[in-house]
Amino acid sequence: MNFVHEDLITTDPVPLLSKNGIETAVLRLDKIHPVISGNKWFKLRFYIQEALQQHKKTILTFGGAYSNHIAATAAACYACGLKSIGIIRGEAPARYSHTLLAAKEHGMQLHFVSREKYRLKEVPEIIEEEYYLVPEGGYGFTGANGAATIPYQKNRFDIICCAVGTGTMLAGLLNGKSPGAAVWGFSVLKGYTTLEEEVKYLLKPPGTQVKIYHDFHFGGYAKHTPALLDFMNKLYASSNIPTDFVYTGKLFFGVNQLIEKNIFPANSKVLIIHSGGLQGNQSLRKGTLIF
Ligand SMILES: *Cc1c(COP(=O)(O)O)cnc(C)c1O
Repeated sequence: MNFVHEDLITTDPVPLLSKNGIETAVLRLDKIHPVISGNKWFKLRFYIQEALQQHKKTILTFGGAYSNHIAATAAACYACGLKSIGIIRGEAPARYSHTLLAAKEHGMQLHFVSREKYRLKEVPEIIEEEYYLVPEGGYGFTGANGAATIPYQKNRFDIICCAVGTGTMLAGLLNGKSPGAAVWGFSVLKGYTTLEEEVKYLLKPPGTQVKIYHDFHFGGYAKHTPALLDFMNKLYASSNIPTDFVYTGKLFFGVNQLIEKNIFPANSKVLIIHSGGLQGNQSLRKGTLIF
């Protein structure tokens, strides 16, 4: 698949977070594609491969109006010559979000369903064509297997840190890590108490520890505060790393707090996964961010 550029991934130092004896680097998955960004490509790759192998012409998936997964699935299907259908949570908005516009531009057929219907993950009856189903957020073994192929220097880092939504990426990183390394997750949802179970379900070696911080959601999914946005600007000004306010901004903020509180073991080599999502910043008021 030559529309994403894994060769553009770099591992960059993070000066702002290299202090108190900790050395921090960032894996720039955000560079591989402007829309099929970061972890979404890795989670999708084997679903798409399987759909093509089964000679399916259409992929159907679920998401909210601001879902990076929806935008990425639309763009990836478009690039592969597949049709795509997105079942979107909630009534059709008067004005489409940037995410939905991006999905539409890539030919995704959008169907809006009520929150109650969405919860049941029923496919509306008007959809008659045959499709390959990708679960909401790419959650599942196929998604985790894809996330396990996220490429980084395995023996260089002690602790890998990533943002967590469905937990698919975290599970993949845990399945793919070297035995001595740890992976710490940072949940962007408020009070998602069964998240650890969702991750454990996808793990290959049973008994692998799942460590997730739940205190860095800033009020809940896609919520933000001035403190978060200030930190994102400070990170960019000092280290030249753009982050998104839904996932990676909260992740970097969380890592910074844990470093300040000396939670990381002394001399740890930390790798932060930049999982992309920058397109989501377009829903912020212009001028909020300096990048
Ligand atoms: C979707 C997304 C995540 C969360 O990935 P999960 O596998 O659902 O936990 C993290 N970061 C970004 C930028 C995302 O778009």
